[in-house]
Amino acid sequence: MIDVMTQPVDIGSYKNFVSPEFFETLLSTGDKLKGLRVCQINATGSGGGVAEILRTLIPLMRSVGLIADWYVLPPDEEFFRITKTIHNLLQGKEGTLSDGELNYYLTHNERTALKLKGKVSQFDLMVVHDPQPLPLLSFLGRLPLSLWVCHLDTSFPNIDMEKNLVPFIKLYDGVVFSHENYVFEGLDSGMVSIVPPAIDPLSSKNMPMSLSMARGIVRGLGINPRHPLISQASRFDPWKDPWGVIEAYRIAKKEIPELQLALLGVLSASDDPEAAEVLRSVEQYAGDDPDIHLFSDPRVIRDREVNAFQRASQVIVQKSIREGFGLSVAEAMWKRKPVVGGNCGGIVRQIRDGKNGFLVDSPQECADRIIALLKDRKLALRIGRAAKKSVVESYLTPRLLMDYLVLFAQLVDTKGLVPVANRGKRGFELGGGELLATP
Ligand code: UDP
Repeated sequence: MIDVMTQPVDIGSYKNFVSPEFFETLLSTGDKLKGLRVCQINATGSGGGVAEILRTLIPLMRSVGLIADWYVLPPDEEFFRITKTIHNLLQGKEGTLSDGELNYYLTHNERTALKLKGKVSQFDLMVVHDPQPLPLLSFLGRLPLSLWVCHLDTSFPNIDMEKNLVPFIKLYDGVVFSHENYVFEGLDSGMVSIVPPAIDPLSSKNMPMSLSMARGIVRGLGINPRHPLISQASRFDPWKDPWGVIEAYRIAKKEIPELQLALLGVLSASDDPEAAEVLRSVEQYAGDDPDIHLFSDPRVIRDREVNAFQRASQVIVQKSIREGFGLSVAEAMWKRKPVVGGNCGGIVRQIRDGKNGFLVDSPQECADRIIALLKDRKLALRIGRAAKKSVVESYLTPRLLMDYLVLFAQLVDTKGLVPVANRGKRGFELGGGELLATP
């Protein structure tokens, strides 16, 4: 298991993003859970939305008094190929998982559980993200508390795949989905919570940056800041429909000949082996158009550059076909950008069509909205203002932290756990005094 390091943060820095009452409740809820030892486990420490969320959430949990750690699975090429297939099936792609693949998936989890056992026994609560490490619990045996969080858009899943996973999910004390429409068949509703993700307003990706600085950064990367720019910041993944974005750009370019397109998709998520292949196909599809800019090198595109592209673009596109929750949508909306998003999954919750963004079902519709926003500055400003307001109200990390603390408190109460009274010892134990964490 790999222990992921994070930068410390101070909950006090987030005070101005919420009401005083909310902030007080956040602190008092954290106080009730002071000393709770939580380990979070996912597939990768960088690349994609889950790593992005944990990078902030874990230090924030520490900042309100929890003892929080983050582990990622040992990388294994074949395992990640199989788990990307599982991911695709759960998001509704045609196909099946062979018995051999299922076996490999379980065996890798079993091996990992052996390595993890000693570490996990030092925690009160294990929070497992997404399908890759889902079966770990079945190989770890009894734990004080456990939670599985699914970040995928499972609105139209492959039913066989879903059925295969349900027995592993049922072993957890609780399950979290980002949207009501994603809940798997066969789960007891009492164990399910809905928690949409959120973005960190203070991360280097989202912190304030002047427009002139943003333009300077994108100019350095080959963009002409005097010409209109549209961008999509997403892994190169079929579900993000990068080909559809290029098609929309081509239609819009007929009306706006100086239009430029940037597709940012750094190849850093080790659990996404498909990305390099998708990038090759997108490169071919883009051809030699000098106004299409594809970026995939993590040494070139870091948080600062994503921030700059999102700010220097006049319109942000997220033309996904499935999207559990679009962090990149929320990031752009936070920056007052009008977003044209695919009419699917979590984006439908984030964007109210025509109010704080636009929802589209085809490249043509996407192009129409891009053209309208580029031609009508007032419309772009109105949509951008409403976009920021909705992120402030619903999609910033203090709300996410609060949702998790409340959920943790419910789990702790249901199991009858209380903070360890002994000085020198940490964590939670059964009300009667028996420490639940198994050695
Ligand atoms: N992202 C990035 N660099 C890139 C492309 C994307 O940092 O080149 C980030 C993006 O800003 C967002 C995350 O990756 O924070 C993607 O999260 P999202 O929820 O949009 O999609 P996921 O990858 O989880 O499906």
